[in-house]
Amino acid sequence: MHQKPDADAMGSVLGLYHYLKKLGHSVTVVSPTNWANWLNWMPGVAEVLNYDREKEKVRPLLSAADYLFCLDFNVFHRTKNFAADLYEATCIKVLIDHHQEPDARSFDFGISNVNKSSTCEMVYDFIKDAGHEAMLDIDISTCLYAGVVADTGSFRFQATTPAVHRMAARLMEQGIRHTEIHSQLFDNFLENRLRFMGNAFLHRLEFFYEYNAALIAIPKYDLLKYEIKTGDTEGLVNFPLSVQGIKLAALVIDRDEERKWSFRSKDTFDCNSFARKYFNGGGHFNASGGGTKESLQETILQFKTALKENEQLLQ
Ligand code: 5GP
Ligand code: MN
Repeated sequence: MHQKPDADAMGSVLGLYHYLKKLGHSVTVVSPTNWANWLNWMPGVAEVLNYDREKEKVRPLLSAADYLFCLDFNVFHRTKNFAADLYEATCIKVLIDHHQEPDARSFDFGISNVNKSSTCEMVYDFIKDAGHEAMLDIDISTCLYAGVVADTGSFRFQATTPAVHRMAARLMEQGIRHTEIHSQLFDNFLENRLRFMGNAFLHRLEFFYEYNAALIAIPKYDLLKYEIKTGDTEGLVNFPLSVQGIKLAALVIDRDEERKWSFRSKDTFDCNSFARKYFNGGGHFNASGGGTKESLQETILQFKTALKENEQLLQ
């Protein structure tokens, strides 16, 4: 999975993990970094190794592995410090992902499909197409359902096809507790996160109506003051899109290692190209991210310049 995994990354990998174990394989799940507390309820998460903290355990397991499955990312650098080991690994490498522009040279086999709602949907297809639909159980289904809910914005984004709803029905038939899964993902924060968001809306949010765009810029001060942890900023970028006419919402966070960007759009504005062109990033058509080394002030200026250059596309 990619660094700082979200529910689709963690859910798809754990769904595959439970399935492969049922087939009798010996499987290890590795996250390149830590992850948000609100993923800790997922079945199997206690077995996940954190590469940043447990390199010594991960490296021999990778050397001994026959297969490496890479899920919900398609270029090794999305795994940060883990990337060098992945390049060097000599096992068979399999990609299952729905992001744009995969690095095909890094993988021996793969499914890369940007039309898929989520990597969880692709793992479901993988199990079904292998003729193993009968092997679905409550653990597999719980993990996969969580990722689909997260990546489809609770079944509202464009990629929510009839097939996605049919899959959701099959997963529900395994006895999953769908209300509880939703709550675990979205109602699992502390007071500080709500206050942090309130402050962001009051003081850190700027609208650029001439470009139908909005920007939330979070200085390091806020992260410290509100004791913001991994996962607490998830979802924040979406809120400006709830304002009439806004087509592009951007969030930049002044992290230690970089100024981390997130982009979300409505309609025809291509966030993937935007993130790629201006912010060393990528992702999907309506959701992307990136990072720059410039200061927060400088990268905000870069964003304003980028808005000017995209004025036509934002109309
Ligand atoms: P988020 O804003 O939730 O971090 O990311 C939105 C989407 O963009 C995700 O699908 C994620 O995989 C992708 N993404 C986020 N940051 C980066 C980045 O730095 N590089 C690339 N290539 N994709 C990113
Ligand atoms: Mn995903």
